[in-house]
Amino acid sequence: MSNLYKTIVPGSTIGIIGGGQLGRMMALSAREMGYRIAVLDPTPDSPCGQVADVEITAAYHDINAIQKLASVSDVITYEFENIDHDALTWLHEHTYLPQGTELLRITQDRETEKTSIQTLGVPVAPFQIVTEEAELDQAVQSIGIPCVVKTCRGGYDGKGQQVIRNTEDVKAAYPLLQAGKCIVEGWVPFEKELSVIISRNPNGETKTLPLAENIHVDNILHQTIVPARVNQEVVEQAYSVAKIIADGLGLIGTLAVEMFLVGDEIFVNELAPRPHNSGHYSIEGCVTSQFEQHIRAVCNLPLGDTTLLTPTVMVNLLGEHVEPTLEQYELILSGKVHLYGKKEAKLKRKMGHITFLGEDVEEILQDLSKLTIWNEKAEVKG
Ligand code: AMP
Repeated sequence: MSNLYKTIVPGSTIGIIGGGQLGRMMALSAREMGYRIAVLDPTPDSPCGQVADVEITAAYHDINAIQKLASVSDVITYEFENIDHDALTWLHEHTYLPQGTELLRITQDRETEKTSIQTLGVPVAPFQIVTEEAELDQAVQSIGIPCVVKTCRGGYDGKGQQVIRNTEDVKAAYPLLQAGKCIVEGWVPFEKELSVIISRNPNGETKTLPLAENIHVDNILHQTIVPARVNQEVVEQAYSVAKIIADGLGLIGTLAVEMFLVGDEIFVNELAPRPHNSGHYSIEGCVTSQFEQHIRAVCNLPLGDTTLLTPTVMVNLLGEHVEPTLEQYELILSGKVHLYGKKEAKLKRKMGHITFLGEDVEEILQDLSKLTIWNEKAEVKG
């Protein structure tokens, strides 16, 4: 198989579908490695467009724009998973898309995603797929309350989800069916949420980033703590689960595997076939970041060392956090600040992140607890 793959050498142009912060950080890494960048995004001056050599502003399904991206790029990758399937198939047939379309097809739909993980022998929460109200009622009954209903396609950061805590909540989930089939998932009483970012190149070489512990607030990632505060057996189990999935699904590129830890047992929650917010810490925290690793994987280069250089806590800056008071700047600037160049600060919109490095994660967390921008109830904007 690997002879179908090309090695993309520095000086070549990498085309990225999607101009958000993940594309921006991929592009910044790629540029350091000597590549050029073209990007397709519907919004002009997108976070990635600002640092790209070629910016194509058009809808993702605009075939003329896709052709233009193809004509200036030596290899195509993507930074988000909800790409129009026809556009991606065209790219796969006409250009060089080493990641292929299959992993994206699987992860675009929670049903195929959960089923594929299960088929590989990896535990997931109990689930049922429903398409109408009566089926939803029945699934909630058989799975039991609490549970959560999610749209199978298109949801992110808790959008398209309804937690069912009592029988009255069931009706609140009915509108989700308007978006198509839904999944009813048993509620996992997790002690921690963990993630492994794994990259794999066409030779089948895999490397994982150090295991990350994630704290979500209102379904959005708030903090990533590395090393995760779990025992070594859990760390090994998490890496092994990620490797089973990456090899089993024939990953080329980067995959984030989000997991729940219950006792010493791991359940996989979801997959993202791209660099992930919970891997941002690796820019300063690891010898090779998730973005550089992704570029190496799609360019068919050997993967880099992912050793953790120092304990690290990454904190997201959302729209409601971006105007800290003067006193708070000192602590903020004791971390490494990344802002994504987004013009409008909307409520819950990811505007940037800060990585704090230190001797010990508990000490970093202690210092962070003094920083009120994340502690006070943020003023609602947008
Ligand atoms: P998701 O969009 O599936 O990543 O869900 C967003 C967040 O909701 C997760 O990170 C968890 O904090 C929570 N969550 C989702 N599904 C479950 C579940 N089955 N059990 C417990 N918590 C869940």
